[in-house]
Amino acid sequence: MQVGQELKEKGIDILRFTWVGLDGYIRAKGAYVDHVDEMVKTGIGLTKAMFSFTPMDTLSPYGSFGPEDEDVFLVPDLSTLSIFPPSAMVICNLYSNGKPWEYDVRSTLKSTLDKIREEYGYEFKSSFEIEFYLVKDKKPYDDARCFDPSAFYNNPVVSEIAKLLDDNGIDILRVIKEYGPGQYEFDILHKESLRSADEVVIFKEIARQVATKHGIEANFMPKPFNKLAGSGLHLNLSIWKGNSNLFFDDKDKLGLSEIAYSFIAGIIEHAKALTAIAAPTINSYKRLVPGSWAPTKIAYGYNNKSSMLRIPTPYPGMSSIDRRIEYRVPDPSTNPYLLLTAIIQAGMDGIERGLKPPSPVNENAYYRKDIEDLPRNLREALNELNKDSTLKEKIGNKIIDEFIKVKTAEVEEYESYVTDWEYEVYRKL
Ligand code: GLU
Ligand code: MG
Ligand code: MG
Repeated sequence: MQVGQELKEKGIDILRFTWVGLDGYIRAKGAYVDHVDEMVKTGIGLTKAMFSFTPMDTLSPYGSFGPEDEDVFLVPDLSTLSIFPPSAMVICNLYSNGKPWEYDVRSTLKSTLDKIREEYGYEFKSSFEIEFYLVKDKKPYDDARCFDPSAFYNNPVVSEIAKLLDDNGIDILRVIKEYGPGQYEFDILHKESLRSADEVVIFKEIARQVATKHGIEANFMPKPFNKLAGSGLHLNLSIWKGNSNLFFDDKDKLGLSEIAYSFIAGIIEHAKALTAIAAPTINSYKRLVPGSWAPTKIAYGYNNKSSMLRIPTPYPGMSSIDRRIEYRVPDPSTNPYLLLTAIIQAGMDGIERGLKPPSPVNENAYYRKDIEDLPRNLREALNELNKDSTLKEKIGNKIIDEFIKVKTAEVEEYESYVTDWEYEVYRKL
């Protein structure tokens, strides 16, 4: 199929060759429709230094690449072509000298999944629950409460997002008016994990385009407003072999198999290091506070929304399809490819070493002094990631070292930045 022809028929003139960098930003280079078919084959050149940018778009003094380095190539995976007029995007893998570039997170997730499939026959299914705010003039778009039906009476933004997701093969399960005013959640049906990471990227692009059309903003910051709920990106995961869900065992009281327990134990073992990837911004840690329904403690629990891992309640007649674990640390600032690679490798370490988790925590975990805390800020989390040589090795040392470098630059910039809060509280000292 000629992509250019299809785009022309739909009145689209630029196809965005899209990727997500180590800093979690979605970025793109546009291919003009008259030449798009050539560029689908050759790829588009991209400077490696993209991976050394900080979110402030300055070159990180810590990154490994500069203006003198050779280009890599953005090569589209046409299965991700998403058309939502007036624009369209396709997600790319990055190639260097004809091979997947070792710093490319999407290629890394793909090869991780391929290797585990070959060695164990495991398939990972995942689904994301995407929370975000609709914002107008830096304030929540509406004053609707949690589960408030009136938020849907006349809400073209939410309806248009849903329609364009559907047009692009993204299966939405639930659309929820979340806790904060202007805050919404879309839950996407579980899929094979590479596709499910792609869907987060496509979702953000669609939501942002629709919001922009209506003169508002779709905001995916983990904690955009003081005193209002943060936005999470809860990740649900299960391992499959053919048609059977290997996490399911109906004889267990949580409905979980030995494999699932070992996978949980692996996540607990690497919990601190994983936090740097799941919650990778300064702002992430303003969400991870007691009482917020976002986790602060390294625990798993039966339907426990205060714990890092929630095992949703089994119900009589529950089918194996529904047995999964929900990792509640991630927020929408995470890179979904790096996140899935990291959590899968942490869990696989638990399976390979036959680890057993401690007992589940079924009470409110926030104020339990006997349970270890997740890292309290990005610097602490990055240090934990740097110390976790097993996880680093499994994900790829180069990618993680570069991630730590770029993120450290972000932390250092912030640490010397004076906030409004400080000015208010300290100006009369
Ligand atoms: N907004 C909460 C978070 O940041 C989650 C609320 C919920 O359980 O849906 O993780
Ligand atoms: Mg929610
Ligand atoms: Mg959830």
